[in-house]
Formats: sequence, structure tokens, C-alpha cells
Amino acid sequence: MTQTTENLIEVKHLKKYFDVKKGLFSRSDRQLKAVDDISFSIKKGETLGLVGESGCGKTTAGRTLLRLYEPTSGQILFHGKPLEKLTHKELLPYRKKMQMIFQDPYASLDPRMTVGEIIGDPLDVHRICKGKDRSDRIRELVELVGLKRDHINRYPHEFSGGQRQRIGIARALAVEPEFIVCDEPISALDVSIQAQVVNMLEDLQERFGLTYLFISHDLSMVRHISHKVGVMYLGSLVEIADAHELYTNMQHPYTKALLSAVPIPDPDLAEKSERIHLQGDVPSPLDPPPGCAFQTRCAYAVAACREVKPELKDMGNGHQVACHIVS
Ligand code: SF4
Repeated sequence: MTQTTENLIEVKHLKKYFDVKKGLFSRSDRQLKAVDDISFSIKKGETLGLVGESGCGKTTAGRTLLRLYEPTSGQILFHGKPLEKLTHKELLPYRKKMQMIFQDPYASLDPRMTVGEIIGDPLDVHRICKGKDRSDRIRELVELVGLKRDHINRYPHEFSGGQRQRIGIARALAVEPEFIVCDEPISALDVSIQAQVVNMLEDLQERFGLTYLFISHDLSMVRHISHKVGVMYLGSLVEIADAHELYTNMQHPYTKALLSAVPIPDPDLAEKSERIHLQGDVPSPLDPPPGCAFQTRCAYAVAACREVKPELKDMGNGHQVACHIVS
């Protein structure tokens, strides 16, 4: 993969809170802290995998990063340029450079539009090309994602889930982005198709020097595609490290529990490995526990865990962990 030392994306203390009203006529008096002070960076040409259980805030983080949701506070830097305060007009050139591939290839494509219209739409919105150049570009994109030219005049319902996701990827690539948020791009697909889509994303990254934020709850796929991995729990990052380091030297009790649930193909190794069963459910982000958000499910919790929220600490080589008992 194309790798440099330059950060394409930097996120600093990003927060996204949603106001929640109790009833129709009541004033907003509670906040759902979907993303609560997260910081990370992604180098150009690399992939940051973001993992965690459903509802941990990873999708909200991705959407806020693209300003599909307005951040509550914090900084979003793209090539060092802060994006969080730009007006919609000022943001337009950056929208072209930062795209998203959505989780559900069934819902994310307009069923009334042909494949050509879907892929051509961003070309029109950003006034990239028209006429023959536009048709040529659509043909090129369709073939780039492994579809055929005669698919251009067909409608989304005529395709399989994997093919629809390829259409979504072609749409994202139409504007020649530098950065793509891949939001659970394989979770709605058959297992047999998932690897094909991930391999294609890797090939595209290599070819065009793309940078990805890859959001998923599939830890084995995240390991395969990511250079760096961040683990989120209840709106916060609890551990972040290079992928190999995280998977071989995980430190946070939540990361250990998540990884212990990943199936191991080798039966001998699988027998020796210990599965850690998490107790209870994820607490509501409307009413998170005090101190460490994981304390209600953590087998290692000590008194401090119920009072003080642990900050991310660098354990060396950029491996950061937020836990009172890890030193
Ligand atoms: Fe468990 Fe305490 Fe560490 Fe939180 S800070 S993960 S509760 S040991």
C-alpha cells in the first residue's frame, strides 16, 4: 500500500452530542453523548479501523468527521486545514475529496435511478464532466469496480447485494476522493462476498493512494484491512494502536473481551484460547455510569474506576490505552 508519514486526517477532541427531548412539549434537558472527546489521526494512504459494539458511536464519529452531522466541538483537520467551522459553500470542495460508502447497499441506492444515473449524479453535482466525457467516466468507473458496461442502464433491484455495494463504491470514486469513510461496508453482505469487497477496497487503495476510515464490528476483517485500529466504547476511544500491536498485545479489558469472541480457524488454537463473556448490556449513552464507562461490565474494576474517567495513556510506539489498571 502507498504509505507516507503525512497525516491526511486529524481529529482532535471531537464531540457529537444529540439533544434529547423528554416529550413533545418539554424543553431539551438531556444529551446523548454519541461521540465524547475522541482524537486520532490517519496517515495518507492508510486505513484506520474503528471497532466496537453496535451503538458505541463509531458510525456517528464517521459521519461527524465528514460533517454529515455538525460536531458539537473539537477539530477536524484535512491536510491540516480545519473543516469544522467552514460554511456549506466553503465545504463543497472538501466534500469532493471526502466520500462515504454506506452500510446498506439496498437502502443507499435510489431504486428509481439506473446505475449510470447513480454514478453520474456526483459528476453533475460537482460539475466534473458532461456529454461524452461523462459517459466515458461512468463506463470507466463501472469496470473499475468489476461490473459490466451493460449494467449501466439497469436498476439497483436487478443486482445482488455485493454488486450493489460495488455500485456504491463506484459512486464514491466518481469524484476522485482522497479519503473515504467505509461505514460497515460488508456487514449486510454474504460472507462469501465480504472478502471480495474488502480485497477490492485494498486494490483501490493501492491504485489511487486512498485513505480509509473503516468502521466495522467484524474484527477479523478490520485486522485484514487496517494499518491502525481504534476500539470504541460508549462514545470514547478506549484503545488505539497499530493493527499488529493491537491484535497481539491488547491491553484494555474491553478489547480483550471483543477479540476473544473472534472465531479462530485453527481448532487446536481455538481450544486453548479463552472466551471472555461480557456481563450485562452496554449502558445507555443517555445515562452513562460515572468514572470508566466500562466499569459495569469489567471483571477488573477497582474503586477508582467508579469515580474517575481514565484518559488515553501512551504505552509506547503510539499504543494508547484508557484504563486505570494498565501501566
Ligand atoms: Fe475496567 Fe477500571 Fe480499566 Fe475501566 S478503568 S476497563 S473498569 S479496570
